[in-house]
Amino acid sequence: MKTTNLLPLIAVFAISTAQAQVRERIEIPDINGYKTLQCDFHIHTVFSDGLVWPTVRVDEAYREGLDAISVTDHLEYRPHGKDIVASHNRSYEIAKPAAESRDVILVKGSEITRSMPPGHFNAIFISDSDELAKDDWRQSLAEAKKQNAFIFWNHPGWEAQQPDTTRRFPEHTEIYNNGWMHGIEVVNGNGYSEEAFQWCLDKKLTIMGSSDIHQPIQTDIDFAKGAHRTMTLVFAKNRTAEAIREALDNRRTAAFYDEYLIGEEQYLRPIFENSIEIKDIKKGDTGITVHIQNNSGLFFRLKKTAHDPNVIYFRDYEIKPHSRHTITVRLNSGSTTGKVNFEVVNLLVKPGKGLECSYDLQIEELLNK
Ligand code: ZN
Repeated sequence: MKTTNLLPLIAVFAISTAQAQVRERIEIPDINGYKTLQCDFHIHTVFSDGLVWPTVRVDEAYREGLDAISVTDHLEYRPHGKDIVASHNRSYEIAKPAAESRDVILVKGSEITRSMPPGHFNAIFISDSDELAKDDWRQSLAEAKKQNAFIFWNHPGWEAQQPDTTRRFPEHTEIYNNGWMHGIEVVNGNGYSEEAFQWCLDKKLTIMGSSDIHQPIQTDIDFAKGAHRTMTLVFAKNRTAEAIREALDNRRTAAFYDEYLIGEEQYLRPIFENSIEIKDIKKGDTGITVHIQNNSGLFFRLKKTAHDPNVIYFRDYEIKPHSRHTITVRLNSGSTTGKVNFEVVNLLVKPGKGLECSYDLQIEELLNK
């Protein structure tokens, strides 16, 4: 090949590698006839106090395989305001074409940012961010509701605002009673709030988890070590903005943070059961061996609970993402039945309470198979 022919070839190669971004989506099973969508509804750009351009947020979401994001720049806090003078709608407008070309669902949002009480609120599914910028926070929240926003209370336990304990002020009860609060961030970045989780359960509010990312995402998250951003899993009828909204309104979510899933049992149990595939059960002289495979990108930490004196099995057991295992369950001599009881301690269905599992072993039946 003549060297003169190489240049276009190099140019083509450079373009194709630049466009071919690797997409590393964490595998999480669909459940109960719903699609499990991976979403982050709390993100910042240079249009408030973030450090990246809005289209970069779309690229990051695309690379991580996210289904939906919302860029929620602060209305009241714009430290780059001398350099970037713009409408509050601009970060959405800039991100929108990028999101369309990347097939990332972009939900329009803004962060209403006040000192405590009431603190910070994200209004998403809004139509006009500028209209939300009011002097009085009550007017901002009322306007968000007028725009049919889904509104959630951000990081109620954030130490910078709430250094002693996580608490609810009378203002939060007022906001709740006015229909201005539909969810709470149970996890914000690395901060998990048990109080927020309990309040979501008590008040039938939607459980949210979000990154609240300000830096370029790889500055905060070590993807090489398998880490991921905190996100909200949304169990939606399909992969559209409308279906996400319907799921948020009906509280079909879980927060995904580090190794933890935080949500109601009706969602976490099928996630566990749909992740784990029992490949083979084999009988031995004193018990059985169960071959299982974790088809998901999730971690599961099992801890033995109620002890059945007939059965001997693990005390603690760790199932890594996409792994195969052989679990041995032995029976004391003469026993033909028993119960394997354990808790999946990193799937939190209540504060401090993991998902309880119990499997009845009928050895006679298994042996006759
Ligand atoms: Zn924020």
